[in-house]
Amino acid sequence: MIEDLQQGHERTEVTDAALTPAMRQYRSAKQSYPDTLLFFRMGDFYELFFEDAVTASRELQLTLTARDKARAVPMCGVPYHAAEGYLQRLLRAGYRVAVCEQMEDPKLAKGVVKREVTRVLTPGTALDPGLAPGQSCWLASIAWVPGAAGGCAGLSMIDLSTGEFRATEFSGNEGWVRALDELGRLRPVELLYSEGLGDAAAAKPGAATQMDLGGVSPPGREEALHALESVRTRTALEIWVFHREHAAPLLERHFKVQSLDGMGFAGHEAAVAAAGAVLEYLKRTKQGALEHLDSLRFYERSTCLELDAVTVRNLELVDPLFTAEDPHTTLLWVLDACLTPMGKRLLRATLLRPAKDLQTIRARQDAVGEAAANLRQRAELRRSLEGVLDLERLLGRVALDSAGPREVLALARTLARLPGTAAAVGMFTAERWVDLRLDFDTLAEVEERVSGTLQEEPPVTANDGGMIRAGISAELDELRELGQNGRQAIAAMEERERARSGIGSLKIRFNNVFGYYLEVTRANARSVPPDYQRTQTLVNAERFTLPELKELETKILHAQEHSVEIERRLFAELRAVVLAAAGRVRATARRVAEIDLLGAYAEQAALYGWVRPEVDASGVLEIVGGRHPVVERRMEEMGVGRFVPNSLSLTAPVETDASGDTPPRAPSLALITGPNMGGKSTFLRMTALLAVMAQTGSYVPAERLRLGLIDRIFTRIGASDNVARGRSTFMVEMTETAAILNSATDRSLVLLDEMGRGTATYDGLSLAWATVEHLHNSVRARALFATHYHELTLLSERLERLQNLRVTIKEAGGGIVFLHTVETGAASKSYGIEVARLAGLPSAVIERARAVLRVHERAESEQIREAAGRIAGETAPALQMTMFTPLSQRIVDRIGALDVDAMTPREALGLLAELQAELRG
Ligand code: ATP
Repeated sequence: MIEDLQQGHERTEVTDAALTPAMRQYRSAKQSYPDTLLFFRMGDFYELFFEDAVTASRELQLTLTARDKARAVPMCGVPYHAAEGYLQRLLRAGYRVAVCEQMEDPKLAKGVVKREVTRVLTPGTALDPGLAPGQSCWLASIAWVPGAAGGCAGLSMIDLSTGEFRATEFSGNEGWVRALDELGRLRPVELLYSEGLGDAAAAKPGAATQMDLGGVSPPGREEALHALESVRTRTALEIWVFHREHAAPLLERHFKVQSLDGMGFAGHEAAVAAAGAVLEYLKRTKQGALEHLDSLRFYERSTCLELDAVTVRNLELVDPLFTAEDPHTTLLWVLDACLTPMGKRLLRATLLRPAKDLQTIRARQDAVGEAAANLRQRAELRRSLEGVLDLERLLGRVALDSAGPREVLALARTLARLPGTAAAVGMFTAERWVDLRLDFDTLAEVEERVSGTLQEEPPVTANDGGMIRAGISAELDELRELGQNGRQAIAAMEERERARSGIGSLKIRFNNVFGYYLEVTRANARSVPPDYQRTQTLVNAERFTLPELKELETKILHAQEHSVEIERRLFAELRAVVLAAAGRVRATARRVAEIDLLGAYAEQAALYGWVRPEVDASGVLEIVGGRHPVVERRMEEMGVGRFVPNSLSLTAPVETDASGDTPPRAPSLALITGPNMGGKSTFLRMTALLAVMAQTGSYVPAERLRLGLIDRIFTRIGASDNVARGRSTFMVEMTETAAILNSATDRSLVLLDEMGRGTATYDGLSLAWATVEHLHNSVRARALFATHYHELTLLSERLERLQNLRVTIKEAGGGIVFLHTVETGAASKSYGIEVARLAGLPSAVIERARAVLRVHERAESEQIREAAGRIAGETAPALQMTMFTPLSQRIVDRIGALDVDAMTPREALGLLAELQAELRG
């Protein structure tokens, strides 16, 4: 059927002349909004036509019909009162929708009803009622400004549900890639970009279009276009939208400022371009007056601990690695003891941007520590936050005019709770608490105005009135009384008419079409008084009216209409009061968020016995008895054993270490070997997670943690194909490793897990070898390198700051037991076959694998030793003798050189005794 219609549509070119007036109207609306699905209001339905109908019927499982006999116009529709649900489904699927409304009453219209597009909904601009409280819904925009220093990439983002609007930029050769990386962390639902950027022709260097763009060519442009594809809804805007001449005045007008410099945008042209495009788009999609967008913030990523998108994903900071998995694998899950949606969002944002300055971190730690140590005050603080609703989102709904009386009242009720929170905060003395308490604006007058104006339980919408309290407007009270009196008069009239007619079952009723009427049963119809005027005959009843009844009706309806009007006006005034305080509401919401976050950190610290990290400017990373926060919590919840704590001590020789307590030969790089399933990855991740937690101000699950501030964390963990983007597993691995080796500094923390496993053994080993050397000699970062290439452990003899660590197991009863303890030393085996046996591989395969392994081990160890000796010899020949010609090798060499046939039994026995003596030392 659908195909039929599609084909029908393709076959028949529908000319304008052949269209009805309504369809001509449709076509012109569609031409103005070509990239949207057009919901066209016709009576009680929104109809979709042509390709839109085909798409919507597929996405929404609607029946596809046709509007005309020739079946050239496919059509499907949804009832207007149920439209919201359908709209949300389309938005979540990434579509944009334009809603074309009837602008006049069809009954009163002369000719075709006037229609207009009143709303354009897109995934990034529509409010999704299903959005989780802790999540943000970003509409982002990316801009590129060419320049002398390799150009500059601007990025801007807005969450319309809260009004948070910010921008940043990245300059230089890496700028574009870093902007994309930031996008990857944000994961916007919709992305705006310049038409020129998406132009395939412009991607080729020197192409004509590139000239048109004024030489716009971000480095790695092909890559850039691929990266944009990761956002489902991408919207290209005209090139001029991103020009400074357009963007800057637009923003200045909106924020009513002379210049954007005062908002931190001096010299940040790319950020201005991106932010301007966001605002332009909001205006185009008719997002109301945008009153609640009263601030735009410039931020810099380098002011916080930088976590690239790969690391955020690998460490499962906020989202599980596999989306199908339950979210109980993330650090966010462990830390989220927040009680308010604002707190939850701040926690998520903080985990993505931990602090990098000691002052901020220590101030938070002081606050957390104080609250953790004072159970009663902490409980009071947290109690005060219960029932605090989402101030930012409620405000957003008010601003976008989609908040009903209940939501405005909810906002006020939340404000009413805030004095309690302020008082609770006032019980603490740590500096951060004192700052948060200072000038805490609880917006008392806004709260009083709203609570005093709205009924206790107002209706959901303001359409039919019934939400304003008595005593607010004398006019309204009078009208209400009139209406009330009218209704009483009707009741009295009903009594009177029953008596007058002698019909006990006579009733006065009301409906929307006929208004008030007298109704008697058919059987009684003959007994009605002569002045009754018949209006309607039904099967079982007759309906009448009287002049007096009509008069009463007019009075009541007029009073009602008028009072609804007044109520709506008063509600609009209330809305204006709230909006006038939008900036204050948002500032208070930010305070509440931080109070909630610090309270949640304190709760966790107290509940789980976490400790305060010692954070300083050194290059030290010292963990004593550290536990992986997520694995530990999961083990506890599932009741499966206990997490085995582990320790680590690394010290990077950082240039800026003023403390002078960096021992010259302290290890900065640990190479971790050990059996599969031994706990290597867990140890690596634990290290990174503890560092992230510490720099967000949280306490940590360890006996002790000392952390010299980290500037960036890099991870290369696990294998993930990115076939969709045309990159093999190995290519992804190497790209990530390249990024690390090129960008890490002596203040970074680098985690490499199983590097080089995606290719042939010797290629992988060689790359891993060279990478360890480079990290040690050039990057000098604190680094953990987990590997199954045991050969690499030999490097510890040559690289003075490399330490070998191994995870331990116990061999018992022909099997192995994982101890999960990390200790100094190199592992000799991977026990891969043992783990495979535990996994249930058939015993025949296991036996055969053991035999094959024995042969390989013999042959390979000889080769590797020899090779290692040669590699070492290139740089340190003296080392070669002691390191790579061990005793066993000499014995093997002697045996290999024997002429057995020429030996007597006595000589053979003598040699054996000699070798044994040598072995025994
Ligand atoms: P592979 O080399 O196969 O990748 P691995 O050495 O990286 O293995 P992990 O994946 O870190 O091993 O750990 C294997 C399992 O052991 C995990 O599922 C984890 O639950 C458990 N485990 C790891 N470390 C500990 C620990 N310290 N205490 C308790 N259990 C642990």
